Amino acid sequence: MVAPESGSLPTTSEHRDVAPAVTLEDLERALARGELQFHFQPRVSLVLGSVIGAEALIRWVRADGTTIPPAEFIPLAEASGFITRLTAAFFEQLLADLAIIHAVDPLLDVSFNVSAQDFESDDLTARICSVAQSGLVAKGRLEIELTETAVLGSGDAILARLQRLRACGVRLAMDDFGTGFSGLEALSRLPFSTIKLDQGLVRRVGSSDKDTALVEASIRMGHVAGLDIVAEGIEDQATYLQLQGWGCTVGQGYWMSRPLALDAFLDFVRRQPRWPAQPVGLVHMAMLDHIAWRKGIMDLVFYGTVDGERADAALAQRYATEPTDCRLGQWYYGGGQHFASDLAFQAIEGPHRVLHEIGQSLVAAALEGRPHAELIPKFRRLSEQSVRIIDLLQQLEAGLLASLCAPERRSIHDALCFRPPAA
Ligand code: C2E
Ligand code: MG
Ligand code: MG
Repeated sequence: MVAPESGSLPTTSEHRDVAPAVTLEDLERALARGELQFHFQPRVSLVLGSVIGAEALIRWVRADGTTIPPAEFIPLAEASGFITRLTAAFFEQLLADLAIIHAVDPLLDVSFNVSAQDFESDDLTARICSVAQSGLVAKGRLEIELTETAVLGSGDAILARLQRLRACGVRLAMDDFGTGFSGLEALSRLPFSTIKLDQGLVRRVGSSDKDTALVEASIRMGHVAGLDIVAEGIEDQATYLQLQGWGCTVGQGYWMSRPLALDAFLDFVRRQPRWPAQPVGLVHMAMLDHIAWRKGIMDLVFYGTVDGERADAALAQRYATEPTDCRLGQWYYGGGQHFASDLAFQAIEGPHRVLHEIGQSLVAAALEGRPHAELIPKFRRLSEQSVRIIDLLQQLEAGLLASLCAPERRSIHDALCFRPPAA
């Protein structure tokens, strides 16, 4: 019997109490016989609506064709210490598969899962860094996934190895974010570049107002912390659209594709499947970024605080920035250039520049200790520019929505032109 794709792996400690279905000797033999292989689950850009990469997931395919999912042998490999040999062997396998994948599309990213034990010695880090530095894999194309539980309580040596990987251009994702109890602690301590929203969390989208708000807030939190956000376990179109509308940029799940054997994955990529592409979520994020910036400058000028701390001159400079430096500006002169031909988008530049000039003079006046009565008129002028910017962002948003809603289309779902990938 072929096992169905399972969900996330329960923690190792849960598994240690359960009699393993396979023995370590079975697993060692399987590795020696080449019965272990990677399957690839496509990752989709929710902005572009196309495949941008894949997560490599290990599979044990026996000679009789039956497949054993990782939940049945990774815990055994971890408990016995065999995992480090498995990961080392599979990193070499990944490089071989990656060469084949990049021959089809050199821009695809690949992520793979590792265990905390893989970082208890220098071996894996040294090997990955030597590959990254040799240029065998382009910078930023390789990501490793670690669960927050795996890195919970990790010592300085593990932290140093993870930092070394980041310095070598390897991305680091916190897997299954939202399942543990230490997510924020691990995020603050370890050099993650990405959070992967757990499928359990994603599945709760729409089930209650509270759960829905938690997912939306997790996306916003990732954005504010400068992390990429990947949602896993997207099983239907409604969830895909909802996540997209909140500004989540990447997703994977059965609705787009199950994990596929290498050849099937390559066929899938060659067919260039398309899902709804929609950047409205990014415009929404830009509005929130701007509102947060305005609130920050208000706190600084009138309450003398920055992000809750008493402002000193150095902290205050964070708000006396050029238009290219704030989060809205980084978007405007970066990814937002996607909209460069839109008139409302073009019109944002002027008021945004004036806004920063007023912001700089406000911060300077506050630092000189000028009385509030003098600051208020400047702040009103800043607010006028702010209202203009929000209005223009909403015009940009309305234009994007209008282009989706041609009159003959009955609903936004029709309008998104979704065509399931050909079988
Ligand atoms: P993970 O890294 O969180 O992988 C996601 C799991 O969710 C995969 O299960 C995938 O098949 C499944 N999945 C993806 N989309 C959906 C969906 O829409 N609905 C549902 N219900 N499930 C979905 P898989 O492949 O069985 O892997 C389970 C776990 O095993 C992985 O969780 C990862 O923690 C571990 N694992 C897999 N491959 C490796 C590996 O090479 N090394 C290590 N150390 N662990 C691995
Ligand atoms: Mg993973
Ligand atoms: Mg996961």
